[in-house]
Amino acid sequence: MPESNKMVTRRPNLIIAISVVLASAILAIAVWVLAQMRDDALRRAQDAVFNVSLLVERDVSRNLEIYDLSIRTVIDGLKQPGVLQLDPVLRQMVLFDGSASAKDMGSILVIDETGYIKFDSQFVPPRHVYLGDRDYFKVHRDSPNVGLYVSHPFMPRTTGADASIGLSRRITKADGSFGGVVVGTMRLKYFRRLFDGMNLGAGGSMALMLNDGTMLMRRPYDPKIIGINLTGTANYSRFVQQPSGDFFGTAAIDGVERWYAFRHIDMYPLILDVALSTRDIYVGWRRRAWIIGSLIAALDLTLIALAVLFAQQMRRRLAAEDELRMLARTDGLTGVDNRRAFEQAVENEWRRAQRHGGPLSMLLIDVDSFKGFNDLYGHSAGDDALITVAHSIAGNVQRPGDTAARYGGEEFAVLLPDTDEAGATSIAEKIRAAVEALAIRHVASSHHVLTVSIGVATMQGEAFSTSRGLVEAADQALYAAKDAGRNRVFSYRTGTPAGGGSVVVVAGR
Ligand code: GH3
Ligand code: MG
Ligand code: MG
Repeated sequence: MPESNKMVTRRPNLIIAISVVLASAILAIAVWVLAQMRDDALRRAQDAVFNVSLLVERDVSRNLEIYDLSIRTVIDGLKQPGVLQLDPVLRQMVLFDGSASAKDMGSILVIDETGYIKFDSQFVPPRHVYLGDRDYFKVHRDSPNVGLYVSHPFMPRTTGADASIGLSRRITKADGSFGGVVVGTMRLKYFRRLFDGMNLGAGGSMALMLNDGTMLMRRPYDPKIIGINLTGTANYSRFVQQPSGDFFGTAAIDGVERWYAFRHIDMYPLILDVALSTRDIYVGWRRRAWIIGSLIAALDLTLIALAVLFAQQMRRRLAAEDELRMLARTDGLTGVDNRRAFEQAVENEWRRAQRHGGPLSMLLIDVDSFKGFNDLYGHSAGDDALITVAHSIAGNVQRPGDTAARYGGEEFAVLLPDTDEAGATSIAEKIRAAVEALAIRHVASSHHVLTVSIGVATMQGEAFSTSRGLVEAADQALYAAKDAGRNRVFSYRTGTPAGGGSVVVVAGR
């Protein structure tokens, strides 16, 4: 198995972590895409609102311009000498060019300085109506330089129907004094029709107001709103700050949040706003976001759930493998390492000692007269004695890297890395003494208790050419210990510089 693969397949938590990272990445991408889609939705709405406001502004300013031209024509006409003396029908033709008869335009009236209608585009002779109390009359009377004035909405007295506004200019006499007013009335219906023709969505709104905040027309239409003053509302405060602009705002009239585009109508004291409701802007996006969001969430959860399941299975398998590995290297009776594990350890430590040139010691331990013990006390008592001896050996071999193993039958082996002969014999002696101190009765033994004999061999420098040689040396030392009377430690010492010696010397009792 390649290293990288092993790294993953042996670490269940890594698999969960990777799945979480993947799921987060998918989630992050989805969030980013949705954010982009949301931005796009807003941008489309902004474009739409901007275009509608431009269209309406063009239409309104064009109509006002034409109407204003007609009013100027009347004023210029009045200045012409002899116009007043003309035959009434002829004078009508000179003064009024007919634009007032266009749809939604009311009538153009010439009002004298006393406030009464002097000429009327619709009637000859003019209707006898007093208009001196109208705002447009008073404004021009009180100030000579107003220019074109757009009035507050009113109900025309001449017809009594259809709320209208008046576009008016001052008549100035030759001596500069006030000579009356020319006013053209315009039905608010015109704006209503214009607004209704635009596509703005269910929650959209449009409004036309005078610079001073007086509402002239609004969509959705509500007659009660016409003429109210918006001064002080949050949106109006923004309208007056700039010639045009856009923003998110909430209408004071209906409390709906919308995206607003507003503009001051060029040359006229009018403000137009067009707005799409936030709900309408994001309705399509929201539906898509729900679908995409749920799919991604389901995908992410599935991904993580699968990873968790997989990791669980893997953890189980790893635990089983560890268990098997442990069983494969453990001696079933005594619980210490078995011979296979020991040989593996010898193999590893041998190579390591070769590399570093450090000492490596081995003890071979054989229980003395064990056949006799079995014969005397039974095989089962023999097993118990082996377990006790094994624990005693393991208890005296505690450095990390040391290995105590059952080598076979009633033989044990201990491997001591980085331990020289002196250290090894001292540990061997400790083991020997410890087993003797267990005082397991063995009447057939000359020592009266169960004892062990130990052979020690140490690899240092060039002493042995193979690990096998080390084992055989320890075995020879063990035999020598047996020969010498048992219950003792013997060490194999290399006698010649070449390392081929076979001298066994007493190191224990
Ligand atoms: P020596 O002092 O020379 O070592 O004498 P010995 O009797 O110990 O030597 P031998 O190798 O002849 O006998 C070993 C005996 O150990 C043979 C066998 O009955 C016994 N034995 C080996 N393995 C086990 C075991 O797992 N359980 C028990 N109860 N006895 C075992
Ligand atoms: Mg034996
Ligand atoms: Mg024996």
